Amino acid sequence: MTQAAPIIAVRDLYRSFAEVEAVRGISFDIHRGEVVGFIGANGAGKTTTMRIMATLEPPTSGAVEICGYDIMNFPGAVRGKIGWMPDTFGAYPNMTVAEYLDFYGRAFGYESARRGERLREVMEFTDLNVISERPMNKLSKGMGQRLCLGRTLMHDPEALIMDEPAAGLDPKARIEFKRLVRLLAEQGKTIFISSHILSELGEMCDSLIFIDAGRVVHQGTAAELQGDAKGPVVVEIRLDGGPAKLREWAERTPGVRLVEMLENKALVDLGEETPGLVSGVLQKMIADGLPVSDFHRRTRKLEDAFVDLLKKLEAPQP
Ligand code: ATP
Repeated sequence: MTQAAPIIAVRDLYRSFAEVEAVRGISFDIHRGEVVGFIGANGAGKTTTMRIMATLEPPTSGAVEICGYDIMNFPGAVRGKIGWMPDTFGAYPNMTVAEYLDFYGRAFGYESARRGERLREVMEFTDLNVISERPMNKLSKGMGQRLCLGRTLMHDPEALIMDEPAAGLDPKARIEFKRLVRLLAEQGKTIFISSHILSELGEMCDSLIFIDAGRVVHQGTAAELQGDAKGPVVVEIRLDGGPAKLREWAERTPGVRLVEMLENKALVDLGEETPGLVSGVLQKMIADGLPVSDFHRRTRKLEDAFVDLLKKLEAPQP
């Protein structure tokens, strides 16, 4: 079976600003309905890449196609296909939420009746109805973000390019934002979304593209990242009566290393994963008479896996 053409195709993209090489050979494909996270530290080149994709910046070299249209040759067609959500947007003090969205509807050329209909659909989806008459400069961060999303959706674009949309949102607003992203993906929208906070995107995205210093360093699911950048197995252990007995046991047991003793639990490093390693250690603890009341593998944070991956890439190759 041949795979459908990607909605977004980025090919060997480069962009320099004087002596700064912001983007250094980035390539990837995104298919219809996918939610893809774009992760990198501050200054890694996320915004520059996204601005090129959104036709706001020309590349130094390389190409981007959106829905089959080249961004340089057909910028107008590309703008009709994408919704660009910048990381900041200006609020007009004398404009209400509804007026702002209506303005965007006009800019996209909707005639009156269809514009009114689209305005209602977008306000309902983004839950802006209740604040439709509120001035834009009197919105909370979460409301402002929903308005920015609403504006991005006005012309019903196929692909959404969102630059740090969850930055600064409180946990409730972030959960709500994730829900909207998933709903949009279910409607078949293709979504490309950046953040420098990995945990913000981990659960929201089907796959992740990691960049560092203008280059893609890893592409795949969050689980694959955890697998590719394996660290040692660390288990968290509780014993009836406190973890004190564990210190002595760890000292006389080969292959285990006590990492940290806390008040009611201890962290133990078991080294590199091998078949049966974790169950073997638990069996030994019980056979040695330790009163184990809780024993579980500590899940590594995605952030740790990313940092390990970068270290691996930076290490000199043998
Ligand atoms: P952040 O998370 O901080 O927004 P980012 O990953 O989006 O970072 P970019 O904004 O793409 O990174 O910046 C990449 C590099 O390019 C940085 O070193 C930045 O200073 C530089 N840069 C970006 N735009 C310009 C510009 N217009 N002129 C000069 N340098 C620029």
